[in-house]
Amino acid sequence: MDKIIMKTPLVEMDGDEMTRILWQMIKEELLLPYIDLKTEYYDLGLEHRNETDDQVTIDAAEANKKYGVAVKCATITPNAARMSEYNLKEMYKSPNGTIRAILDGTVFRAPIIVKGIEPCVRNWKKPITLARHAYGDIYKNTELYIDRPGKAYLLFEGEDGTEKKALIHDYKDCGVLMGMHNMDASIKSFARSCFNYGLDTHQSVWFGAKDTISKTYDGRFKEVFQTIFDEEFKEKYDAAGLTYFFSLIDDIVARVMKAEGGFIWACKNYDGDVMSDMVSSAFGSLAMMTSVLVSPDGKYEYEAAHGTVQRHYYKHLAGEETSTNSVATIFAWTGALRKRGELDELPELVSFADKLEKATVETIESGKMTKDLALITSIENPTVLNSREFILAIRENLDRML
Ligand code: NAP
Ligand code: MG
Repeated sequence: MDKIIMKTPLVEMDGDEMTRILWQMIKEELLLPYIDLKTEYYDLGLEHRNETDDQVTIDAAEANKKYGVAVKCATITPNAARMSEYNLKEMYKSPNGTIRAILDGTVFRAPIIVKGIEPCVRNWKKPITLARHAYGDIYKNTELYIDRPGKAYLLFEGEDGTEKKALIHDYKDCGVLMGMHNMDASIKSFARSCFNYGLDTHQSVWFGAKDTISKTYDGRFKEVFQTIFDEEFKEKYDAAGLTYFFSLIDDIVARVMKAEGGFIWACKNYDGDVMSDMVSSAFGSLAMMTSVLVSPDGKYEYEAAHGTVQRHYYKHLAGEETSTNSVATIFAWTGALRKRGELDELPELVSFADKLEKATVETIESGKMTKDLALITSIENPTVLNSREFILAIRENLDRML
């Protein structure tokens, strides 16, 4: 078989620890034998981020903007322990945060469904894709502890000298106080990313907020979504047989529990934080969650939702065998290759991505899997494979399909 030729390079963002090891294995065993792989490589491993004062992360994000499609390995977000472990010049920000800010993107998380790893919610048959608005609200709040009686106000001072003032509470005793904000521009970007991704993946969009209680704040979210939908997307959604549905967040939660899946659930920042953990654990395993960052103008960055699997990496360094699940990282590659194939009109590349996903799913469904899945599967007597054996088992299936 001739190798599949690519037109435009993928932006490849390498990462850290165990996922960096898997990254190399996936490329060697599952990609390079079949594709004339074109990538523009950025090493986001912590050592190289430190050498470049994190410039490499910014360069990678700019390349993502230029070429449109990136695939990213999990990376360490430095904390105090990492400062000494890697002898860092600075406590660099999370690469994901930096890239998200540059692309102004929204993160969509979706589970990979396989038979034998059943969701806790019986009626969930298709993935639920969760979209979290990643700006503002309580994540950029200002809080005070009030330790004496007195009045708290919201005060806005316009640059033109005008003022808006509202009483929040007349404290008779101690209590707590919080101010938070969001911006139309950010809500609009979020709405556009959601609607574009819905069209792209052929899924309807559900959005819930508490606009009955928060008439101005959450009401604004509802208004912005509806206006953008009506003005920019309604026709395309009608043509595709898709819908946009807004309801009170309580109602949405109740409907999600009764639904089959197969839609995008757009959430405000806090709802998305909490609900994405609920949805991903109900679907079975963090190692089976994919994640894609989508900008409002249609740039994509694919990755696994999990981290660098540090504990397994230390075992690997100590020469011990690991059984680390590479599925979400493989799906990051297939997602990116498929998207590149669609944009460059390369049906062979799209078809390769489909087959590699199918080979991966079928490997698990045939009872061959890594330890994390063996612990939760309903398949009897699964074969537990180590990190490399699992990838080789997928390759065997893939060879049979090609
Ligand atoms: P983690 O890497 O997601 O791993 C947490 C635990 O979940 C692992 O110890 C492992 O459990 C299990 N797990 C996760 N992925 C797995 C896989 N593919 N196969 C098998 N088991 C898997 O989270 P962490 O250990 O809290 O964080 C490690 C580093 O990742 C941190 O430096 C953090 O900053 C970074 N991180 C990066 C991203 C990203 O780049 N998107 C996201 C999250 C965290 P057992 O140990 O019980 O086997
Ligand atoms: Mg959370």
